[in-house]
Amino acid sequence: MTYRELYEYGVEALEEAGVAEAKLNARLLLEYVCRTDRNTLLVHGDSMRSRMEEEFYKRAIETRRRHVPLQHITGEQEFMGLCFRVNEHTLIPRQDTEILVEEAMRYLGDGMHILDLCTGSGCILLSLLKYSNECEGVGTDISEEALLVARENAGRLGLDASFLCGDLFAPLTAYAPGRIRDTLFDMILSNPPYIPSGEIAGLMPEVRDYEPLTALDGREDGLYFYRRIIGEAPHYLRRFGLLFLEIGCSQAKAVSAILRENGFGEIEVIKDYAGLDRVIKASLC
Ligand code: GLN
Repeated sequence: MTYRELYEYGVEALEEAGVAEAKLNARLLLEYVCRTDRNTLLVHGDSMRSRMEEEFYKRAIETRRRHVPLQHITGEQEFMGLCFRVNEHTLIPRQDTEILVEEAMRYLGDGMHILDLCTGSGCILLSLLKYSNECEGVGTDISEEALLVARENAGRLGLDASFLCGDLFAPLTAYAPGRIRDTLFDMILSNPPYIPSGEIAGLMPEVRDYEPLTALDGREDGLYFYRRIIGEAPHYLRRFGLLFLEIGCSQAKAVSAILRENGFGEIEVIKDYAGLDRVIKASLC
């Protein structure tokens, strides 16, 4: 089959299975399988492909028809202009989360100490390290499998970060070398799980069935991790240090209140490109 025939086959198969953005998915999978790009597909649509590519593409389409996320098939996702490896143990980096990184970058100075809680693929921490100089980065996550991915991403980007396994701040106190234990951070960031448990069942199958539940489920009211992070952060943040949190679009008021109760000020809510509340920034007074 030619590029064009394969693409048309893919679009039809994905549409029939109710996959959103079938055309985009069919094209991206074709580019992935044939290691090519959009221009080549456009200009050389009549180019005959090998039996092997055809088989490989049809298998990828079959997998996508089961609503396996595209990024689990290709194994990667672009974020902040960088390529991150992902798998079923890490949340796929979202474009919304770039708002968190961009906001933090406005305050990021060379040589700062940065802590990223629930780091997952490491995309937040590693982007900040990539776009700054001499910063020291620590990322923690409850999932050792996720940290394997984060460490691989650090290696691929040529960056040095400490990825520690454990529950939020716990690995910092358990970690032996004094450097990290005694460090107060200039900046703490997190995109914690924030979806209320009752809303998980209604998520799209790609997210609900294939992304790690531990990265999504914010317990009963979705605020469980904000309470814990904000409650403990003052012990790890230097005076006037900054806390940046990604939030669900209806959580700004509740999270602001938790911040105020715990001695934070200069609370600012930042919207995403859809105009929804997405990030909250606060300073330890
Ligand atoms: N934004 C993600 C979603 O909508 C949720 C990420 C999170 O819980 N931190 O699927």
